[in-house]
This record gives sequence, C-alpha cells and structure tokens, in this order.
Amino acid sequence: MHLRPYVAALLACVTVGGAGSPATTTAAAASLTPAAATLSTTPSTDTAGTGRLLAAANAARRAAGVESLFGRASYNATAVAMATAVVEARTVPTPTDGAPSVYAGGTAPEAEYDAAVDAAVANLVSTAHAVTTYALHTDAGVAVVREAVAGGVRYGIALVVGWPPPPVATDTGCATTRGYCWSTRGLNPHLPWTRNQVKWYLSTAGLPTAGESLVKTAIATLNKVNGFGADLVYAGKATTTTPDAAHRFVVVWGSGCPTADALACTIDSTQGSDHFVYQARTIVTASRYAANPGTTWWVGTLMHEIAHASGLGHFNGTYGGTYQLMRWADGPNAVQHGDANGLRRLAASGIVTASLRAVRGGGTHALVVRASNSGLGGLRAMHTECRDASGTWRIVARLAGTWDGRTADRTLGSATSGQTCRAVVRSKARTVTTAAVTLA
Ligand SMILES: [Zn+2]
Repeated sequence: MHLRPYVAALLACVTVGGAGSPATTTAAAASLTPAAATLSTTPSTDTAGTGRLLAAANAARRAAGVESLFGRASYNATAVAMATAVVEARTVPTPTDGAPSVYAGGTAPEAEYDAAVDAAVANLVSTAHAVTTYALHTDAGVAVVREAVAGGVRYGIALVVGWPPPPVATDTGCATTRGYCWSTRGLNPHLPWTRNQVKWYLSTAGLPTAGESLVKTAIATLNKVNGFGADLVYAGKATTTTPDAAHRFVVVWGSGCPTADALACTIDSTQGSDHFVYQARTIVTASRYAANPGTTWWVGTLMHEIAHASGLGHFNGTYGGTYQLMRWADGPNAVQHGDANGLRRLAASGIVTASLRAVRGGGTHALVVRASNSGLGGLRAMHTECRDASGTWRIVARLAGTWDGRTADRTLGSATSGQTCRAVVRSKARTVTTAAVTLA
C-alpha cells in the first residue's frame, strides 16, 4: 500500500473580541472655543492620529522583538467602520474573519484632542499588548476617526491584528477542473520565516544514510515548479525532532503517523481562522522506508508531503488523464499539472513592485531601485539598463541576493543626463520591469 495520509493540527489564535467596553474619557470642562471649521461634523479619518496608532503598535512589537506589521486594506476598512461606530455610539462591528480587535473612544476639547487620542492609543496598545506583539499576527488595520461635536471632538480608535488575505476562501476545497485540492489556506506569506525562504530541516534522529539525499532532491525538485511562489530550501540537519522557533519545517524519520502503515504523513500547524500554515512536521515511517528504500518512490513521497506543508490536500481523481502526486495513495512520483496549479494557488508569489529613480551627484546620476514583494519568494535579482545611442537596452549593473520582500532601495550603477533607463527586478517566481526614466 502507498498510504500518505495527512492530518492538520490547528492552533487557536489569541482573540480579543471587541475588548469589552470601550474606555471613555469625556471632558468635563466647558470648551473655550467652538470646534474649528476644519473639523467635520460628520465622522472623518484622522490620518495623523491613525499613523500614530500604527507607530505605537509597531513600537510595542519592536520592544517585544517582533517585526513591524503589514498593512491590510480590508482590516483598515474594518478599523474605520469600528472607529466610526464608536464615534456614532452605534454597535461596533468585529472583523468577519475573527481577527482580534480592540477599540476605544472619547470626547475631548479641541485643544486637548491630540493628547487625548495619544493617551487612548497608548492605553489601547497596552490593553491589546499580547495580540499586538504575537509573532503570528503579521497584518493590521488601524483607524482614528473624529467628529466635531458641541464642546469638542469625539473620537474613536480601532486596531485589528491578524494575517494576510488568504488565497482561497475556505479551509478545505477542490478545484476539480484544475486538478488539486487544499486542506489549509497555504503558507502565510508574511511571516519572516516563510515569505523569503521556507527553510526545511532534517532531523538527525533515526536518519538513514540516504535520507539527506532524498530530502534534498525532493525539496529542490518541488521548488522548481514554474510559478510556485514559495522558495523552499534545504537548510541542513538538526537534532530537533519537532518544529520549534529556529526550525519551523522539519522532516524526521521515525513513527507516529495517525495511520500506522502510512509511508509518511505531514502535520501542519496553522494559525487563526484562516488556517495559514506557519510550520509543519513531516514524519517518514522508518520501518516502511527500511522495508523498501527505493529512491524514486521516496523522493515522490517526500514531495507529496512537502506539498501538504505548502497547503495542498489530496486530489484523488485524474487530471489531464493522469493521477496526480497528491493522490492519497499510489500516485505518480513526480509533480503533475494539477499539483503545479495547486502550488501556484496555495503558495502564490507575492506582488513585486519596483521603481527606478536617479539621484544626481558628481556629474552622473546614481540609479536607485526601490523594490518590494508583498508575499512569498523575496527578491532574488535585479539589474539596471539604459538605452544606448542606437536605442538598444544595455545592462548597467546587476545585483543578486536572497533578500526579503520588505521595501528597500538599492543603488545599481549610474548614468548621465539625457539617458533613458529602467530596472528589471526578479522574485523567486516573478519578473517585473519598471517604467523607463529619462535622466534630467
Ligand atoms: Zn498525503
């Protein structure tokens, strides 16, 4: 038998639903001046205050050793709706995906408004410290909304923390016309240990001689699937037998699959109501391996398991006339078209954004490339190029690396006034070309 069962272990996220009653500070002092004409008597977003709320949340994260939050548009919209409801004294909505959220509100004399908001922000971030600094919460929405009222300014502030928009709308499902199923919502594309590289470690416990070669081959082969956004790498051996903070993805030879005669199994740890994978453990049943250690069969089995850890479930039918790697048992030992479709969907490349600008200095212009990747696959290479006299693009400078996708500037060569230049930026799975810039 060729059983490769799969079990998802779920980790509940910390939830602060609504955070109880909002803290309210109402100014008792009579206002000295009427509300300024610039303040709307209908709720409007306080952009500066909203920025201070996000900065306060990120400062709390930095103090806890956790990186900054990614902005999520739908969470921002939810935060605006929440803060507006606070201002209008209506029932405050909560995020539809169950993401933790907190809010507060109050009224202050106009002269004291900023200080009141800052105090409320500090209190809110303190109240929500645990969820704000939780490492698996990568994305946020923030809002400060205000409205001029008799005697001052009424304000509402709201903070939502959670995860990125998922690639699929359900935790499990199938795209039967595309040849794949999923059993989680794929790899979280914003975690520091997934969005650049997904490092797989191999436990030394019970490891057979050929084990490392099998795992290396499986990871390298799966990683080459065209358009697969995640960058899977073999990161070496480790003594751990289970995932930990330094080894999020682990293969171990041993026992313990839910089905005793399974060749192997993978236990994904997922987060939040969206069930993003943040770590996984693949068990190769040592007795099954020892009984029949054929290379092709085990590379196929390991690719199947690692595909589970990338989000895929079993697809037991045929697609394009053949069974898929993700068949529950007796599938082929190579990635098929349906499997590839699934990997591209569940572990999609992030959106790569790039621009080029010229910085004048010393008679030439430095070519500065600003690039980012919103999700999986980091940034891997970039070059600048300028047109020569005949109009042909000529490469000016190249740079390659294993960069994270956070926005950064990199200087790649220089050019002179009148030249037209552009940059080409590559992530693991995508290539973008910037708009051309003619140097002044
Ligand atoms: Zn399986």
